[in-house]
Amino acid sequence: MTKTNVFKFGGASVKDADALKNLAKILRNRLRKNIVIVVSAMGKTTNLLETILNLKLEKNDFSLKYANLKSYHFGICQELFPENHRIFSVLENQFISLEKKLEVELSKENYDEVYDGIVSFGELISSKIVMEFLCLEGLVVLWQDAREIISTNYDYRFAKINWEKTRKNCQLHLKPKLEKFPVVTQGFIGADQFGKTTTLGREGSDFTAAIIGSCLNASSVTIWKDVPGVLNADPKRFSETVLFPELDYKQAAEMTYYGASVIHPKTIKPLANAGIPLYVKSFLSPDSIGTKIHAIETFNPISTFVIKENQVLVSFKVTDFTFIEEIHIHKVYEELRRLKLRVNMLQISAISISLVMDSQPFNFEKLLERLRSEFEIRYNEGLELLTIMHPEKESIVSQLEGFDIFLEQSTRNTVQIVRRRKA
Ligand code: ASP
Ligand code: MG
Repeated sequence: MTKTNVFKFGGASVKDADALKNLAKILRNRLRKNIVIVVSAMGKTTNLLETILNLKLEKNDFSLKYANLKSYHFGICQELFPENHRIFSVLENQFISLEKKLEVELSKENYDEVYDGIVSFGELISSKIVMEFLCLEGLVVLWQDAREIISTNYDYRFAKINWEKTRKNCQLHLKPKLEKFPVVTQGFIGADQFGKTTTLGREGSDFTAAIIGSCLNASSVTIWKDVPGVLNADPKRFSETVLFPELDYKQAAEMTYYGASVIHPKTIKPLANAGIPLYVKSFLSPDSIGTKIHAIETFNPISTFVIKENQVLVSFKVTDFTFIEEIHIHKVYEELRRLKLRVNMLQISAISISLVMDSQPFNFEKLLERLRSEFEIRYNEGLELLTIMHPEKESIVSQLEGFDIFLEQSTRNTVQIVRRRKA
């Protein structure tokens, strides 16, 4: 049997009827039986589902947002399918199940678990539409529920993979199907040992593709994006960018760690361990070379700019005229761990610990609540963290202009700047 290839299509590549037609075009030239097609929710569906959940949590009316969600998906299908196609009853069924889930009593306590059960509908619906549309186009593909494959713990919203089970599931459920036809499945979602739906963290579909690639010992994994490949900066934020035709796993992993959103940070490791190349290619220009990430053991020295938005800088100051000691750091980190808050930058001075992290609605409040009695706490919101890898002097200076700078750190190879654009 030929080796498997895994293709991952993100939200932007399935965001409307034209995008789906383009996806079918890409696959028409490349579709062989041994291909797994991993899809995300369509367009901004995950954000919309999150908005609905948050409205519900605050006991606000979400019916308008829900109606938008429904008409968005039905609208796409009306453009793509004949009136009497079965996709419409499939959709109706999906939305009935979603409405049932939305009836549940939602609180801060069960938020994560309910979140996974509801947000996963984005991927379930999208994968059904993609599967039916490909079949309609004469590209016969099978559908696979990712929850039968991706086995996780019950760390809702940030579920960890049970690799052994997942590997077995791939052999059991995917392999036999792939011997006959290509298979469409969902990114981002999995199930715990009780069969409850879990999710792998926002933008986790890339990771799903890597997991499946690794478990099937695929010959490659390809992520189809709206950019030409991996660039040295986000083209939406920087006017001049350079494409990396190839990158070593390590350099790519480091970029994702600092926040390069082109690939999910967890994607590289399983592929690097198995020596499976990862291609990042443009769905707008599918024949262009894109980027190949594999073991080349050399670093490309071009200055690389990575921005993490929506950052909070918080400082914990000791109040009793002592200095910062290990115990203070331990206390802060213990709470961060409990609340699943990840630190992107850390600075310790004589009397305070400063942390930069992603803004996370109520877990941040909880952190402040729990540590208020120990420290004097101050924070700034709405910041961005810029990391420059292999920086050049001029490039650093130019990144300071027009910004208020809150924190700066540098090593030989990396400069990090926490900043906010001046009003
Ligand atoms: N739909 C999910 C999200 O937007 C997963 C993904 O797109 O990779 O976070
Ligand atoms: Mg997405």
